[in-house]
Amino acid sequence: MADNKMLQNMKNNYLKEVSIQEELEKVKIENFLEFYSDGRYEFYKCSGCFGPQLGHIEVKCTKIAYESDVVRKFEVYLKKIKGFKEALWKRDKEREKLRAKEMVEAAAAAAQAGTAGTGGAAEGVAQIVKPRPPPLWTGQKFDRWKVEVMSWRNHSRGNDEEKYLDLEESLKKNEAIKECVRRTLKEKVGESKTITRICR
Ligand SMILES: [Zn+2]
Repeated sequence: MADNKMLQNMKNNYLKEVSIQEELEKVKIENFLEFYSDGRYEFYKCSGCFGPQLGHIEVKCTKIAYESDVVRKFEVYLKKIKGFKEALWKRDKEREKLRAKEMVEAAAAAAQAGTAGTGGAAEGVAQIVKPRPPPLWTGQKFDRWKVEVMSWRNHSRGNDEEKYLDLEESLKKNEAIKECVRRTLKEKVGESKTITRICR
């Protein structure tokens, strides 16, 4: 019971729920949460009352640390406010898009490096190696994926345009990045559909 009273006191010192909703819409979630590389996060805290910064009102700050149990409950309440989860999803989506963009850049670099290194010998190899599907991007490190793409390009049959189309199709299989890949590749490659063209 006492805890509930303290929680209510804390809420009284903070913005109202609707105002916190507005804040979540207007301000990037990174301003309120500290994200770690594994995706977990923690609320940024006020150094006066140790309450979360989200919804914090400076003039109502107690300057005395809230009980950690109360803060924990308050955080549960914050997480349930409309727009909180949505802000996290939005952040995830944006990061996914960024990754897709980096990936396309990496593919371009791989294509360039691949062209530079291919001579007659590689063409000869291409003739005797069976066609195989391009490496799927399933979220592995770009550097690793890049190596796989290079190897695939140098050792698989078909001309650059066919390979490009195969690669594009393969990338589009990943729902999360499909749209971004389509747009980014179109910008970079335009109408001329070859792998080497990606890098220009
Ligand atoms: Zn404070």
